[in-house]
Amino acid sequence: MARNSKIEWTTHTFNPWWGCVRVSPACKHCYAEAWAKRVGQNVWGVGAERRFFGEKHWADPLRWDGVARAANERHRVFCASMADVFEDRRDLDPWREQLWTLIAATPSLDWLLLTKRPGLVQHLAPWGNEWPYNVWLGTTVEDQQRADEQLPKLAAIPARVRFLSAEPLLGPINLSPWATALDWVITGGESGPKARPSSPSWFLDLLNQCMSADIAFHFKQWGD
Ligand code: SF4
Repeated sequence: MARNSKIEWTTHTFNPWWGCVRVSPACKHCYAEAWAKRVGQNVWGVGAERRFFGEKHWADPLRWDGVARAANERHRVFCASMADVFEDRRDLDPWREQLWTLIAATPSLDWLLLTKRPGLVQHLAPWGNEWPYNVWLGTTVEDQQRADEQLPKLAAIPARVRFLSAEPLLGPINLSPWATALDWVITGGESGPKARPSSPSWFLDLLNQCMSADIAFHFKQWGD
């Protein structure tokens, strides 16, 4: 299968723009910010402009959709690795509109929207209580405090698949209040020169909770 993403849980990665602003402790060593700086893009922070793309970039998912349809398969698109689709800035609104149109035009792709801003999703997404079949919604929570804050917001949104990215995992998490609302948990430790360590027991505990609640579980890496 042709794929453009090195991330093992998706087929493709699509970025509607580049740039973001940090919102939680998990953002401290944001790989996307570091990568953008490395390639000379000053697109992080409230005052910075975002990086936008032309028609050729936006045509890629239409091609991926054709490939998936021809193979009679569903392919996943992780959106976004270099931004947060639900960052609340007005200059992003037209690009978000273009993304919603693209999602509607690619029914053989499952769009995995991963955000650290689940409280803004229903304000910025167009679907209200009728989410399209091909959109999965996920949020990142790195510890219990973030789980308590963010998971009630995720659980209230009627996406077909709701998932949790517990990466980088910075503390143990009890998922039990939201277990029935979750379909999938991805977890992993932090890597890189200043990585904050995770305890192996936190991952094991998440695995046991997922097995008990029949939630799919994907372990990515221990971290450094
Ligand atoms: S929300 Fe995601 S993309 Fe934005 S700064 Fe945090 S980790 Fe980076």
